[in-house]
Amino acid sequence: MATREARSPFDRLRKHYEETTLRCPECGYVDDDGEWRVTARGGQVNYQHICPRCDAIDTRVLKYG
Ligand SMILES: [Zn+2]
Repeated sequence: MATREARSPFDRLRKHYEETTLRCPECGYVDDDGEWRVTARGGQVNYQHICPRCDAIDTRVLKYG
């Protein structure tokens, strides 16, 4: 019985976000050096990025489980 652990949809999504260009939805600024701030709680993960130019907060929510 071959059990090859597939990556969960959550892991794939997380990778997708980590590779996504951080572009501010407000002013269009591309934050090349930026990172998502990740907080996980109660079956969901919040990704947050604050634009260094205009302080707009871009939030994505991942739900899993
Ligand atoms: Zn901005």
